[in-house]
Amino acid sequence: MPRLPFPLEGKRVFVAGHRGMVGKALLRRLAREPVELLTAGREELDLTRQAEVEAWFAHNRPQVVILAAAKVGGILANATYPVDFLEQNLLIEVNTIRAAFLAGVEKLLFLGSSCIYPKFAPQPIREEALLTGPLEPTNQWYAIAKIAGLELCAAYRRQHGADFVSVMPTNLYGPGDNWDPLSSHVVAALIRKAHEAKERGERALEVWGTGTPLREFLFVDDLADACVFLLRHYSEEVALNVGSGQEVSIAELARLVCAVVGFEGELRFDPSKPDGTPRKRLDTSRLDALGWRAATPLREGLARAYAAFLEETRDRPSL
Ligand code: GDP
Repeated sequence: MPRLPFPLEGKRVFVAGHRGMVGKALLRRLAREPVELLTAGREELDLTRQAEVEAWFAHNRPQVVILAAAKVGGILANATYPVDFLEQNLLIEVNTIRAAFLAGVEKLLFLGSSCIYPKFAPQPIREEALLTGPLEPTNQWYAIAKIAGLELCAAYRRQHGADFVSVMPTNLYGPGDNWDPLSSHVVAALIRKAHEAKERGERALEVWGTGTPLREFLFVDDLADACVFLLRHYSEEVALNVGSGQEVSIAELARLVCAVVGFEGELRFDPSKPDGTPRKRLDTSRLDALGWRAATPLREGLARAYAAFLEETRDRPSL
């Protein structure tokens, strides 16, 4: 068993996926640690190409890896591009985790996702619920790939004693989110739609589905903080839940977003769009016992996300 806490000080830390929402938040958080940060843009390193990945690791010799690179998207994107979600994620995971092992990486943290639990898992969802029932069909491709990734980390622990761990964040939002209305997740989508509805003086905001599904939301900088904490303090096979305990219905979320954005029209639900899983709240007893808690209240996080949206789309309205 590796000794805890794992000493991060002075380590060469590779954040794979540093241009994504999670990767950017990790860079912000790790900037406050005495570590050497390594990143590689897609033009320098294509994580879906095995030989390239192994060569990059052999040359750059990271000691710690956070695998935040993934093909991600909201409910519609998942259902529309099943090959991309399954294939790209499998390739990224196998290549990166394997190269990390071959290069002697001391600690690797893999990011799973709460949507990989069974659709009807008992709530709040405990880590043990993994692989106990059928998946939510709209994101099953992504889920299968992510499950393979965390099983691979577990397998490296068992077969080779590698200190590779996985975490399962609940629904994330915040600066650096994907603001594209067709592929975004619900928070980014509603922020954008509410902003545009306000700008255009519209009377209603369209919300997909019935508004009744429940979701738990975690501000992405809180996740980054949890990842740094867990690099130091977690070393077990179980993929650890990281939640916020802040659960709201989609209708409540839409009202909160409208309040933050300053849109005063009504909500119009579109039940022809999928609701997805009815509820996915994570049980964070294990994480609580380690002594970490999310810091950002939902309303404050939404205000910060809206400010980031305005900033990030200012010169690029098509983002
Ligand atoms: P999920 O958590 O994997 O289901 O992914 P999403 O964040 O894409 O969707 C969460 C919930 O928000 C689902 O019930 C969606 O139908 C609902 N929703 C409401 N309006 C929107 C929207 O404009 N975009 C997205 N992506 N979801 C929406």
